[in-house]
Amino acid sequence: MANGEIFDVTVIGTGPGGYVAAVRAAQMGLKTAIVERDPAGCGGTCLQRGCIPTKALLHTADLYEDFKNRKEYGIVAENVGLDFPAVMSRKDRIVLRLSKGIETYLFKKNKITLFKGHGRLEGAKAVVVKGEGGETRVDTKNVILATGSRPKSLPGITPDGKTILTSDDILKLKEIPKSLVVIGAGAVGMEFASMFARFGSTVTVIEMLPRILPLEDAEISAEAHKVLAKQMTIHTGAKTEAVLKTANGVEVGFHTAQGESKTVTADLLLLAVGRGPVTDGLNLESTKAQLDRGYVKTSALMATDEPGLYAIGDVVALPDRPHPQLAHVASAEGIGVAERLAGHAVEALNYDRIPSATYCRPETAGVGLTEAEAKKRGYDVRVGRFNFGSLAKPRILGHPEGLVKVVSEAKYDEVLGVHMVGPHATDLISEACVALRLEATTEEIFRTVHPHPTLPEALMQAAEAVYGHAIDA
Ligand code: FAD
Repeated sequence: MANGEIFDVTVIGTGPGGYVAAVRAAQMGLKTAIVERDPAGCGGTCLQRGCIPTKALLHTADLYEDFKNRKEYGIVAENVGLDFPAVMSRKDRIVLRLSKGIETYLFKKNKITLFKGHGRLEGAKAVVVKGEGGETRVDTKNVILATGSRPKSLPGITPDGKTILTSDDILKLKEIPKSLVVIGAGAVGMEFASMFARFGSTVTVIEMLPRILPLEDAEISAEAHKVLAKQMTIHTGAKTEAVLKTANGVEVGFHTAQGESKTVTADLLLLAVGRGPVTDGLNLESTKAQLDRGYVKTSALMATDEPGLYAIGDVVALPDRPHPQLAHVASAEGIGVAERLAGHAVEALNYDRIPSATYCRPETAGVGLTEAEAKKRGYDVRVGRFNFGSLAKPRILGHPEGLVKVVSEAKYDEVLGVHMVGPHATDLISEACVALRLEATTEEIFRTVHPHPTLPEALMQAAEAVYGHAIDA
């Protein structure tokens, strides 16, 4: 039912795209509404079923691994073990608290009106929300679609939530499986593989592409493979042929890179083969917005073909390149749209400078061009590498594996990319993000005095290595 109120902007979806866009719109003085249909609450995939729960579990895996290695640290403790229900309930508490924080603190503080229920468009000037109490019409000048994504499957393999799982299902497990097969060695697949391997499962990873973490710089994914292969069995260049449910779990048939036929049996199978767009029941047909393989097509400024209708985050198809499905991308796009709606001339995102991060142990992270991409674009490429093992701090932490790689170019000495695998790489990458944003030179990085003993010294040394000056052990 309309009540005569007209919002400046209505956002559909409260993931990291939607809620961040709504908060920024409200901060800019726009009258803002937001719609969410998830009975679990606000926060979207990232908070409910993605970034946050996985990182909470991975943190326990890190602690558990270090405790198992307690003698090395001089810690004496008996009976170190995992209470899996307690591990899962800690994860649930973290999610609940953050989700409630969005609803009861962020939305209230910023005077954002939350409509609970399924939102559908009536053109771009109204959203009809179907909630518990029936339908509510929300009149609005602009709409931002931030409806996100859901797990994809493979042809002929249907997740059943019991033995064939999606990333949503595996976060609800009641006990640690004795064995787990993971199909897909992207960030999601490798994080679960690394987590359950360290919780004690026997883990097998099957990846069709020639390497794990295929979006990372080739050297980084090779080094990550080397370390992770100590925790699990990894088949790259391997094609899954068949999945059979058995009395005790699953049987997965695949062809190895060498053309051999193999079968692996396990309690559970995790499908981590990417995510598809969520646009069901949105009534996009009532607008001029176009779809591309189900994703909402936008310009570089996130505008659809319908005036006043924008899309951000995982649901987006960009005009000229693949759209990265990452929380920080969704948020940055949302901030851009909100500020532009408030009249600010905010530039389009530079997708070459979006950081990637994988939170296995060792962590991987990268920003900017990989060495291969820089060469493809015709740069006169110079590379510096530095091993974490040559520094004091990684040895103090007990995690000296990995390296930092700086990709630079000869003409202006500009840093084109930074890629790393090793301790706290996902935190360390932020310094490189700032360097790229400021178009810093390699020399500016290595002449920036870094505190000692710290992990960021590895970036400083990798920059020096471009000049052959690193102090490598
Ligand atoms: P979403 O977060 O998917 O939110 C969309 C919201 O819209 C949902 O709440 C949904 O209920 C709601 N919605 C949809 N349709 C409607 C409708 N019609 N009416 C009302 N509400 C609707 N990214 C990272 O950057 N770092 C990580 O560490 C990371 N880890 C991940 C781990 C896993 C296991 C997974 C699956 C993903 C991970 N991601 C990570 C990716 C990240 O979660 C997504 O990129 C991000 O959530 C996308 O945000 P979004 O706002 O576009 O959509």
